[in-house]
Amino acid sequence: MVCRPLRIFGTVKRPDSLHMGHLECHIKYMSENRPDRIQSLHPLVRRVLADNPSPFTYWGTQTYIVGDARGVAVIDPGPDLEPHVDAIIEAIGDTPVLALVCTHTHRDHSPATRPLQARTGAPIIGCAALALADNGPRADAAFDSDYIPDRVLADGGRIDGEGWALEAVSTPGHTSNHLCFALPQAGALFTGDHVMGWSTTVIAPPDGDMADYMASLDKLMARTDAVYYPAHGEPVEQPQRFVRGLAGHRKQREGQILRLLDQGEGLIARMVEKMYVGVDPRLHPAAGRSVLAHLIDLESRGLVTRSGDDWRKAA
Ligand SMILES: [Zn+2]
Repeated sequence: MVCRPLRIFGTVKRPDSLHMGHLECHIKYMSENRPDRIQSLHPLVRRVLADNPSPFTYWGTQTYIVGDARGVAVIDPGPDLEPHVDAIIEAIGDTPVLALVCTHTHRDHSPATRPLQARTGAPIIGCAALALADNGPRADAAFDSDYIPDRVLADGGRIDGEGWALEAVSTPGHTSNHLCFALPQAGALFTGDHVMGWSTTVIAPPDGDMADYMASLDKLMARTDAVYYPAHGEPVEQPQRFVRGLAGHRKQREGQILRLLDQGEGLIARMVEKMYVGVDPRLHPAAGRSVLAHLIDLESRGLVTRSGDDWRKAA
């Protein structure tokens, strides 16, 4: 199997099947091509890479430092790993920190808000806290139940710096509390895990919701951002085209599921085997959560029914 550079994900129609089927290649690619820990992407944007690579986080979580010497915001501080927190502090230097900002509260995104707040005194501003009575079987990162924001931003809420501003764009789907953040001065949108530069996102019920995710893709397609800065993977250029590809890919998956139900295949585990041929079995549980998310969406549209674990087309 040939290991391909990951830029192909900007143009392929089925990004997650490629990523999932080539896991070993990608691990090799990741180790050989890991970017520098701190990179400057724009006069107002720097990126700090955490050392938490995995099949779900790619090279690791990317924390963004937005602003200039007069003040910065830190987007997705990341996991609470001391070397990562030290690297963020080093990148910030003496610059005032206006806000510690989270797109959502998976544990690879928000726990470092706490040591950073202790060291900088900055407020935690962004997504709401999320308390779930039942997390369900986890497909990727667990939720950070210790996250306590000082200020929650609704859709359109702003964080104002000197000469720049971040504007929240509510994008539920990957999680119910997910926000993206626009930086109009750079034509950029920080997309967290909603749109990633290396793979499609995991939609894991009960909190993950396919219908919300699709609506949140539509919301991005209606925008005119020039570049996306995701929490995992490289920046996405020509992002509307990329998002159209992601939506088309999910529609393809939905069609596959309906065809399998026509053939009498009603169990998720069996559907995953047929839909994700050649995919590393370690990723089957995550694929199963996404299939479940599709089925719940189809059920809410009256197209399928379930009895126990067995799904059928509605009569
Ligand atoms: Zn996440």
